[in-house]
Amino acid sequence: MVSSPMHGANLMDTESTLYKVILDNLYDGVYFVDTQRCVTYWNPGAERLTGYTSDEVVGTQCHEKLLRHIDEHGCVLCDAQCPFTQTLTDGTAHEVEMYLHHKQGYRLPVSVRVSPVYDGEGRIIGAVQTFSDNTAKVAAVNRTKELEEIAFLDPLTGLGNRRFTEANMRNWLDQMQRYSWPFGLMFVDIDNFKRVNDTYGHDIGDEVLRMVARTMLHNSRPFDILGRWGGEEFIAILVNVTPAHLSAIANRFRSLVEQSSLDIDGKEVQVTVSIGATLAVKEDTLDRLVKRADTYMYRSKTHGRNFVTTDDM
Ligand code: GH3
Ligand code: MG
Ligand code: MG
Repeated sequence: MVSSPMHGANLMDTESTLYKVILDNLYDGVYFVDTQRCVTYWNPGAERLTGYTSDEVVGTQCHEKLLRHIDEHGCVLCDAQCPFTQTLTDGTAHEVEMYLHHKQGYRLPVSVRVSPVYDGEGRIIGAVQTFSDNTAKVAAVNRTKELEEIAFLDPLTGLGNRRFTEANMRNWLDQMQRYSWPFGLMFVDIDNFKRVNDTYGHDIGDEVLRMVARTMLHNSRPFDILGRWGGEEFIAILVNVTPAHLSAIANRFRSLVEQSSLDIDGKEVQVTVSIGATLAVKEDTLDRLVKRADTYMYRSKTHGRNFVTTDDM
């Protein structure tokens, strides 16, 4: 297309305005970094997904304190395995599943794609990352909306309450006894939670409860059930699992909670959880099943906390 310089400039303006409108309206998170991994653009989708505004992030380096991407084993990716570093080094796109740190402290699973950005002469001048929350897992979050309608909701954490958890356990026990559909139960208790309240106050304690609940909720499969049993105790019902599965899921919860943190006036507030996980058996009643998971949880406490105890231990 032949155009006058003036026309060309207008076209450029129109094009960049168009791209900005698209980026600003994308549901996914998008951000740019320069070759030093310094963030130069942060779209509203990224603000929505992470809780951090553009003002807070632009100008910082992506591996600084804010985002702290980790993999499913809790390993921090920001040094050796940073997808930006890989893309800036080899000039190719990289795709990773990871967990980002939300401003409210919890860990959110995201699918990430990083691509290089070139200048007119073919030199890499930075990279762009798009990320989206894992929609299958988001289904678990949506289910809590249904709970609000039937008074099964724990208002503090947004999880199902004890009544909801018991009703689901009865249901799954019944199906296991009739059809042999396996399920596991996980009893999760926050470690030294009294100390959090004593140190930071009850309101921050509530925030921590919400953080732990969200980390577990966002990292549950859509068909699993997670409820607040009472105080700082949670129960997860994990359907269709093998003992190895159950142990892996419990350890993932344990590790992701350990890697979650709340920023309180520049101080990081972190907690750990002790977990007891057991597979339901035909002879179980609701009370026996919960008691066994609770007993295992206590073994994790005596083991030193931040630990998972399962049937085969
Ligand atoms: P352990 O590692 O042995 O579990 O120690 P712990 O301090 O977590 O256990 P303990 O049972 O002694 O204390 C639980 C605390 O949880 C005491 C109670 O004040 C606090 N708690 C219970 N429910 C809530 C709540 O809704 N909000 C807040 N902020 N605290 C709560
Ligand atoms: Mg307790
Ligand atoms: Mg406790």
